[in-house]
Amino acid sequence: MASIAQVEPLTSARALRGPFDYALPEEMRERVGVGSMLVVPFGHRELLGVVVGLTEASSVDRERLLAPRRTVEADVPVDLVELAGWIALEYCSTPARALSLVLAPGAGSGVHSLARLVAELTAAGREAPAAGVRLTAVQRAVLDRLADAGSAPAAATGAAHGTLRRLEARGLVRLHRRPLARAPEHVAVGSRTAGTVTLGADQRRALDGVCEAVAARRFDELLLHGVTGSGKTEVYLRAAQAVLEQGRGVIVLVPEIGLTPQTVGRFVARFGETVAVAHSRLGAGERYDEWMRLRRGEARICVGPRSAVFAPIEDLGLIVIDEEHDSSYKHEGDPRYDARHVAARRARQAGAVLLCGSATPRPESYARLRRLVLASRVDGAPLPAVEVLDMCGASGALHERTAAALGALRRGGGKAIVLLNRRGWSNFLSCRSCGKVWGCPECDVALVLHRADGMISCHHCGHRQRVPASCDACGSSSVARHGFGNERLEHELVAALGGDDYPIFRLDADVAGAKGRAASVLARFERAPAGVLVGTQMVAKGHDFDGVGLGVVLDADATLRFPDFRAEERTFALVAQLAGRAGRGGTDGRVLVQTLTPGARSIVAAARHDSEGFLAGELERRRALRYPPYGELIRIVCSSDREGVALAAARELRSRLTLTDAQLLGPAPLFRLRGRERAQIVIKAADRLAAVAAVGEAVAVPLHRDASISVDVDPQ
Ligand code: ADP
Ligand code: ZN
Ligand code: ZN
Repeated sequence: MASIAQVEPLTSARALRGPFDYALPEEMRERVGVGSMLVVPFGHRELLGVVVGLTEASSVDRERLLAPRRTVEADVPVDLVELAGWIALEYCSTPARALSLVLAPGAGSGVHSLARLVAELTAAGREAPAAGVRLTAVQRAVLDRLADAGSAPAAATGAAHGTLRRLEARGLVRLHRRPLARAPEHVAVGSRTAGTVTLGADQRRALDGVCEAVAARRFDELLLHGVTGSGKTEVYLRAAQAVLEQGRGVIVLVPEIGLTPQTVGRFVARFGETVAVAHSRLGAGERYDEWMRLRRGEARICVGPRSAVFAPIEDLGLIVIDEEHDSSYKHEGDPRYDARHVAARRARQAGAVLLCGSATPRPESYARLRRLVLASRVDGAPLPAVEVLDMCGASGALHERTAAALGALRRGGGKAIVLLNRRGWSNFLSCRSCGKVWGCPECDVALVLHRADGMISCHHCGHRQRVPASCDACGSSSVARHGFGNERLEHELVAALGGDDYPIFRLDADVAGAKGRAASVLARFERAPAGVLVGTQMVAKGHDFDGVGLGVVLDADATLRFPDFRAEERTFALVAQLAGRAGRGGTDGRVLVQTLTPGARSIVAAARHDSEGFLAGELERRRALRYPPYGELIRIVCSSDREGVALAAARELRSRLTLTDAQLLGPAPLFRLRGRERAQIVIKAADRLAAVAAVGEAVAVPLHRDASISVDVDPQ
């Protein structure tokens, strides 16, 4: 048994890089392996660390090696330690930061003690009060309280921990940690069929394709390209079943649980206790419990958002990525990992099948993956007719045809979804007399009016201030509001259509801020016999509502105005996904798309439901410009709160980068964010490994005392 552990201390400091050697005392050797968590002395501190290797030889004299203080429960599986090592390199991050992704939730912070302790009455305990066993008043009260249900959470017994332990010592109660009844309330939103269904021919063929790959028990990647409502989830469920029957485990990634409760609900309904849900709404203790259930193999399926790709499932057979085009799969903190890319790596490592599903797949997936197609909706209904409305010269928010369609729907008592991908009331305020525009003091962007709060706020840093009554530059009290966002749109729709029998629901990040609110808005819209749901892209996620007769997209080209090579892809997906919400469950659907650029390729293709045509054109364009998947992109941002430093650091960094067969763009200044100037370099490279390695090397050496660097491989 190895006597020296190589430990990576978990610290976010970039400069501190392990692993460091520690001498294992005899009694630890048997218990400690790769993935074990240890508390180790480090300088004057104690740090939590993960064992990444074992050895007999160290470059440090054996007598000088320190011993770990203690071990911590919840060790990490070896394959996840390996995966973290890969992530650290792949995303130019540090081993410690990458390891922190794969640990048990709250590991080392004492969270596990929060896990719910359950007290259960034993047979002796049940008889004790009547049998005249000597009991204190408190003990008696605990036994009484437990008598009804037989068991209860320790906290609910009203007794102190010591009391319960003493009762346990006397054999009157049993204490154990119980995984909580997971998945708190899965508000049932938009799922029609409860029982099992007979697969359609397309679904059958797709499932056969997946099952064949699963049976081969080796790495494979598939794309389930199915129009909205074509029954993709049913294919995931059956594929998961097949994998469980092989005795292997499954990970199902979903965009956001709050917005896709129905997918989670269907997995829980089908597989019960076998499912662990990684839900941000769970408390730290509950998340830890779910993690342990997976770790111990009590649960074999994990459903959750991007971080579920790190679920501690042994012998993984399948990873499903639902709505694989969704931007939430990219993590926006260091390491800036992409759960889709990590999932592919993990599937390869485990010899598992990766199944990506979407109605609007990414061009990368379309080009790279073997495709299984679901061409039509389960109910056989045609996709709704889409009409593009030119807004050039229009003044109000709604085109007259949109207003007319909404009016007709109101009279007929139908439902509509209206999408405007902008929060707030007005985009910005300006002074009518001197032209001042109210901007964020920390960022170079305009502040957005949120009328209900009486605030103007920055959508980048969260800065808020009161709505000005007059201009602080010239004193004029004439302040103009420009543009419109969801809050104002809701207000106008209420004025035009609203009534007791015709509710208008709004769903955006402001409304959904409180946990669980999004699901409740969606559930109320579903239950309402008629009404309008208005909101940001949140309203276009995979909901499956009956009876939506009209879908409207306002300012469909807003996403096109971003200087971003994914602008077309995003616009197409947004329109196509919204169109997918209309005309389900026997209702005729119709979609109106308001835009200033009715001829834009992405909008024309979305209006024709021509996903393949769009993807083919998009891939051609990307090939010409050497964008992904025909080239690799890496973005490096230098930032500083001192003037001029960001740009200077970026220049210095650029001079360090020597790359062949790659294009270096920049440094280019970016707008100031959170009080920091920023400058970016973009690398377009043919060879990913070489580019990542070169960047990793360049950023490993400190650049400038006052500059920080962030590296984004595969920026979104
Ligand atoms: P998608 O994920 O492709 O948008 P879903 O899987 O949500 O589609 O399926 C849409 C609806 O059709 C769901 O309510 C689902 O239960 C139902 N469904 C799926 N497959 C079938 C089938 N073979 N027969 C009848 N209903 C089905
Ligand atoms: Zn002014
Ligand atoms: Zn700001």
